[in-house]
Amino acid sequence: MKTSIIGFPRVGELRELKFATEKYFRKEISAEELEATGKELRKKHWQLLVDQGIDFIPSGDFSFFDTTLDAAVLLNIVPKKYQALQLSPLETYFALARGYQGASGDVTALAMKKWFNTNYHYMVPEIDDDTELKLVGEKLFTTFKEAKEAGINTRPTIIGPFTLLKLATYHGTKQAVDFYEDAIIAYAQIFDRLAEAGCQWLQIDEPALVLDLSPAEVQQFKNVYQKLLVKKSTLKILVQTYFGDVRDAYKELIDLAFDGIGLDFVEGRKTLRLLEKYGFPENKILFAGIVNGKNIWKNNYKETLTLLEKLQSFGEIVLNTSCSLLHVPFTLVNETGLTKKVTDHFAFAVEKLTELNDLKQIIANKDENQPLLKANLDLFAQERFSKNDHVLQQINALTEQDFIRVPSLTERAVVQKDTLKLPILPTTTIGSFPQTNEVKQNRAKFKKGEITEAQYTEFNKIKIAECVAFQEGIGLDVLVHGEFERNDMVEYFGESLDGYLFTEKAWVQSYGTRCVKPPIIWGDISRSNPITVAYSTYAQTLTDKPMKGMLTGPVTILNWSFPREDISIRESTLQLALAIQEEVLDLEANGIEIIQIDEAALREKLPLRQTDWHSEYLDWAIPAFRLVHSKVQPTTQIHTHMCYSEFADIIQDIDNMDADVISFEASRSNFKILDALKAIDFQTQVGPGVYDIHSPRIPSVEEIETTLRNILSKLSVEKVWVNPDCGLKTRGVLETEASLKNLVLAAKKVRGGV
Ligand code: GLN
Ligand code: ZN
Repeated sequence: MKTSIIGFPRVGELRELKFATEKYFRKEISAEELEATGKELRKKHWQLLVDQGIDFIPSGDFSFFDTTLDAAVLLNIVPKKYQALQLSPLETYFALARGYQGASGDVTALAMKKWFNTNYHYMVPEIDDDTELKLVGEKLFTTFKEAKEAGINTRPTIIGPFTLLKLATYHGTKQAVDFYEDAIIAYAQIFDRLAEAGCQWLQIDEPALVLDLSPAEVQQFKNVYQKLLVKKSTLKILVQTYFGDVRDAYKELIDLAFDGIGLDFVEGRKTLRLLEKYGFPENKILFAGIVNGKNIWKNNYKETLTLLEKLQSFGEIVLNTSCSLLHVPFTLVNETGLTKKVTDHFAFAVEKLTELNDLKQIIANKDENQPLLKANLDLFAQERFSKNDHVLQQINALTEQDFIRVPSLTERAVVQKDTLKLPILPTTTIGSFPQTNEVKQNRAKFKKGEITEAQYTEFNKIKIAECVAFQEGIGLDVLVHGEFERNDMVEYFGESLDGYLFTEKAWVQSYGTRCVKPPIIWGDISRSNPITVAYSTYAQTLTDKPMKGMLTGPVTILNWSFPREDISIRESTLQLALAIQEEVLDLEANGIEIIQIDEAALREKLPLRQTDWHSEYLDWAIPAFRLVHSKVQPTTQIHTHMCYSEFADIIQDIDNMDADVISFEASRSNFKILDALKAIDFQTQVGPGVYDIHSPRIPSVEEIETTLRNILSKLSVEKVWVNPDCGLKTRGVLETEASLKNLVLAAKKVRGGV
């Protein structure tokens, strides 16, 4: 049996790619130096896969920002405004990814969206009526050759035409169907170029097959591949799916002339049933996704072997991961702070390669008592997660009343208008201010023990004072303390709660150069001490304006942690909700009148199939959020924040969250969300982000004013707040200050007119 992976974390063991790319952005290294780092990393990763005994080694999974963007650029899906900048190919690429403001022009970045049900974000390709979809790029071929020169015959990977065109946005009258013919020509050319270069297998990713598909879409998929696959000549094609089962397209999929079909047996609840019901063609290879590409837990070999035994009756199998290993940290080797008793249960990307190899050997050996299997059986026989009886009792005692805040949203709005005395179109920010080097160094020094806790806190207080003074100076209405004490909105809370474990280097790419280090849930969750109260109350002493307390909500904490396997994520979320509820009540008791509970990632675990949205997720996730704030006074204003668009999908549930105010990302998805809001009847006050904070460009006063007027043409002025899209921690100080000044000026101008 052979082994395969779908993709590997390109950012590098110690985030080398991130640091090199950021240096390039700061003009500290040249394009050549950045390319050299990329080349070095690719070589290192390929060699590592060879050394770990992986048979099918991917290429093309490397990217300087995002592989969907790579595919778009390869196929000339580059809107005119970026081409008009006349920049080098690399700079055009980064202009698409991050926007560009400079001597050659001023353009915003492409939209960015969450990649299926992960915390990775892809760049949304933009297609106009005059887009000429054709093969223009070289990257896929040059990296294949690069590997070949290093003696490794890789399997290039590229996102397939069906998924690519389904994920794209269309600005003209044309739709995906209008581009299939051109796509077939372009992909056929890719086949030829790769075959010429000596390539044997190509992996085409079609994760869109796991979504709800209409019969018409399935037919389109079939048509495209019927035409395309006749052109594959000697090249073997693996169609790879992940993040679920392909129930809507399975029958069509197995009838097409693919040489290999990659299916997910981890998240694909119905995958096995599909095989049992409809069979699997003998002349094709089944790439069986059996090692979880998303979690950090060791594979249970016994369970996997039982599954594989069933699968073997379907013909030739290749052992595969369930999705790209992009979604897990690089390696366990650098986690020196955790005991072996703990890390024995973990498998990050490199260790998952070992698992594939172990399984391969266990199957080859056929011996029931072999040491590899025995060691794994022993591990799973151990008790691993710590229990907390008090927490379990609290959960059991919850009643429906615990999830309902009184009085109602509309009644509270009246009370709060009276007590808070805010102007119309109140201005605020989402919480964090730039995490400058000195802010990061202060934290690093404290963690290394180079400064005392008092010194650490003193520094943060100075930053808070500066931040408050700045906000007062420019005239913002609701202030924040700036979150200088937080490394990350989830890890920070995890560190202060019992039941969490932390890693040192376990970074996972979130988008572009941004990586997150999800904490690990290792027991029942509880809060032993207040977490944010000291900094928030200190900040409030510095101003007469309301200081917003800043918390992360339970669903987001859970979604951005690595969850336990032994209890449901619903149960872990309720435990988190009770802990954050204590914090909310403490803030309130200490005079904080506005509390923002971020649910940036609420949408993240929304099932990919709409039919499952409520029953499997929203019906418990939204109540978990309500549990956090249900006990506050009517005068306390609860805010929440969501990012990365697609909030529009769950817009119907906006009042269900029962927050007084909700802010969300809007400018990066062309304010589509406003139309969704306009179409429904809702009571919650809303702050659609008026400018994109993922880009360094500074929006002008006029630009924000236009945006605001557009917002007000769709929403009633009493309901609208004015704020950026998201927190400002990733931005520089200068652009942040300039942008916020413009935001306040724009709000004032519009207020004058309404
Ligand atoms: N309060 C957080 C911040 O401003 C919210 C971050 C987020 O939504 N991702 O950083
Ligand atoms: Zn956000």
